Amino acid sequence: MKKKILSTFTIFIIVLSCFAFASAGSVAPTEKVRVIIGFKGASDAALVNAHGGEVTSQYQYVSAIAASLPPKAIVALQKNPNVAYVEPDFEVQAIGKPVKPTPSPTPTPTQSTPWGIAKINAPAVWDNGVEGLGIKVAVLDTGIDTNHADLSVAGGAYFVRTVRSYNDDNGHGTHCAGIIAAKDNAIGVVGVAPLVSLYAVKVLDRTGSGYLSWIMSGIEWSIANDMDVISMSFGSTGTVPAYETMINTAYGEGIVLVAAAGNSGSGTDTVNYPAKYSKVIAVGATDDKDVIAYFSSTGPSLSVVAPGVAIRSTYKGNSYATMSGTSMACPHAAGTVALMLSKNNELTPLQVKEALQNTAVKIGSTPNNVYGYGE
Ligand code: CA
Repeated sequence: MKKKILSTFTIFIIVLSCFAFASAGSVAPTEKVRVIIGFKGASDAALVNAHGGEVTSQYQYVSAIAASLPPKAIVALQKNPNVAYVEPDFEVQAIGKPVKPTPSPTPTPTQSTPWGIAKINAPAVWDNGVEGLGIKVAVLDTGIDTNHADLSVAGGAYFVRTVRSYNDDNGHGTHCAGIIAAKDNAIGVVGVAPLVSLYAVKVLDRTGSGYLSWIMSGIEWSIANDMDVISMSFGSTGTVPAYETMINTAYGEGIVLVAAAGNSGSGTDTVNYPAKYSKVIAVGATDDKDVIAYFSSTGPSLSVVAPGVAIRSTYKGNSYATMSGTSMACPHAAGTVALMLSKNNELTPLQVKEALQNTAVKIGSTPNNVYGYGE
């Protein structure tokens, strides 16, 4: 893994060098580059500033800083004895796509139960009075439509630099939120755990992508605001050490982390980060026949599979849409976790992960790289 990070970084440096060469002679100042700087001891914003860097985030829970740096400062900082690494702050993508070209503009007049909600037997759990009440779920995504008639948003935060609210300007986040907790009322759809407290943590922009540094800020916010569950329907093939440290810190604080396995398809190990981390519940996608979706990532870190093909849920603009992706499977699992916690909030993240895996309906020999411990 280290070798891979180094080679990625080498390419990054080469690209930077080309850029610097191409812009030589131009009057425009050399463009700064987004990086995440890891420190061996306490993080040092003054050091970054002294190298001409602009600090965008100084994290509380990990010794790291996100900054924009002049390219020549990268090598200088890497030589500093207090600096562990300087890595690119790359963009991470949402991993669900609409299967219909446009969302339906008008809510369906009567509530219907989407197939995935029925498949995981959520209504039977509600009949026992367990609907997620008192559990706080942070949806790290493109935001949530705060005016949707079928959703209730308890709060949130935004870390996308170009916006001033956690309202959803993409649709993906509202779709994931509805899978977790669309209201059990007379309209639209119903989610897995309709009474959870939903928090919109906007870390992805209107195009569905966001910098790793924004996602780390979203996890930090979730720790500081006592979230019980973090649902992450995004992924990347690369990572930086501070990302895992932040995730491990959240886990250590008792937060259950759930992530989409990725839409990279089958292979020896195609699971994306953060799902690939051992402390995260990695969720693959199945269809209504319990067959793995062609796009669902596979590998030894896969925990479980959940419905993720042709899923109807809420969408931005007080509407509804049908989408597919492991992005849709992740909130089915996150909602299930919320139900488990609302029944017994003493469960640790490890106990939740094990219980989820142990109660999954096994598909083939388990665990396996395609279905994990099952559905
Ligand atoms: Ca509803």
